[in-house]
Amino acid sequence: MYIKDLHLTNYRNYQDLQLSFADKVNVIIGENAQGKTNLMEAIYVLAFSKSYRTSRDKELVQWEQNYAKIKGTVFKRNQTFPMEMQFSTKGKIAKLNHMEQRRLSDYIGALNVVMFAPEDLHLVKGSPQIRRRFIDMEIGQIQPVYIYHLGQYQKIVKQRNHLLKNLQRRQTNDRTMLEVLTEQLIEHAAIIVEKRFVFLDLLRKWAIPIHQGISDDKERLTITYFSSIDVSETAEREKIKTSYQSAFMNNMDKEIERGSTLFGPHRDDLLFFVNDKDVQTYGSQGQQRTTALSLKLAEIELIKSEVGEYPILLLDDVLSELDHYRQSHLLHTIQGKVQTFVSTTSVSDIQHETIQQAELFEVKNGT
Ligand code: ATP
Ligand code: MG
Repeated sequence: MYIKDLHLTNYRNYQDLQLSFADKVNVIIGENAQGKTNLMEAIYVLAFSKSYRTSRDKELVQWEQNYAKIKGTVFKRNQTFPMEMQFSTKGKIAKLNHMEQRRLSDYIGALNVVMFAPEDLHLVKGSPQIRRRFIDMEIGQIQPVYIYHLGQYQKIVKQRNHLLKNLQRRQTNDRTMLEVLTEQLIEHAAIIVEKRFVFLDLLRKWAIPIHQGISDDKERLTITYFSSIDVSETAEREKIKTSYQSAFMNNMDKEIERGSTLFGPHRDDLLFFVNDKDVQTYGSQGQQRTTALSLKLAEIELIKSEVGEYPILLLDDVLSELDHYRQSHLLHTIQGKVQTFVSTTSVSDIQHETIQQAELFEVKNGT
């Protein structure tokens, strides 16, 4: 798949920008603060209906303006179709094929995007939240129904935390309500965790051999799921539910005391090991980078195997962060098959034929 063209209106520092892209590599070159990341972000937002940089949609709207629009034409499965996102004070509107999609899970997944930015190098070392976002976004774009469950789940966690706080402060004594919310929470939690287990199996299938390749057969990657409850990764939905039920039942007083939901996918994490040593704790910078790169490359292959086509790859400022060896590994993998957007302040940073043959776009102050 690829994006044929993009039209931005009042999007961050772009007032009105229309571009047509090459179906292979597109290089966005420009000085700092000219709009390279904004352009990459716009493609990401077109795919996911929200940014990875902010949760406040209003930041996407150009200062002094009251709406922002991103339109793109996508080529996928031998078809060309328009996608559109619009943001205003009234909220956001997502359109697929000119038709408004009220449920975002009907919109997300139409365009598949893998983003690799310097922040992703923190995938291994950073907070669990980064790894949860990684896994959630990936499952979401392959299986949009996941997004629905995640949304419901997050809503219930909020309500439940609110109630737990009220119970903690003795402002209420409604344990029946707590039980009702717990039951609802478990329904969605079990689906989410089950889907995460299935996804992790797929991720390992791709990431481990890729990692082995990059590390020249010297290192072996293992990925495990760290769960807030005692549950095996081979467990199916009913079994997961039972585990949650006993965790919540046995810890009700503790949860009230803390005023917060202590179990569930929002408390879980991914752990990475290289040669059986925890990369987060013991890994060198290089090992952490290799792990992050392997995960990103695995994502690309995983989407290809699940969706049938390669996703679009966004490399924002990341190539210059990788050494020559990892750079060529990455560029070799995508060569000729993945539409890629590369941003950089200077092309000479990237001495690779893929880049030298690319379509070049120069950004200067939002044009
Ligand atoms: P760098 O090389 O430093 O990463 P960049 O080219 O990626 O730079 P961007 O992050 O795309 O730069 O930002 C370009 C400019 O967009 C910044 O100067 C920022 O102030 C501006 N900007 C961000 N949000 C908005 C907005 N809502 N309206 C107008 N301008 C904005
Ligand atoms: Mg940038």
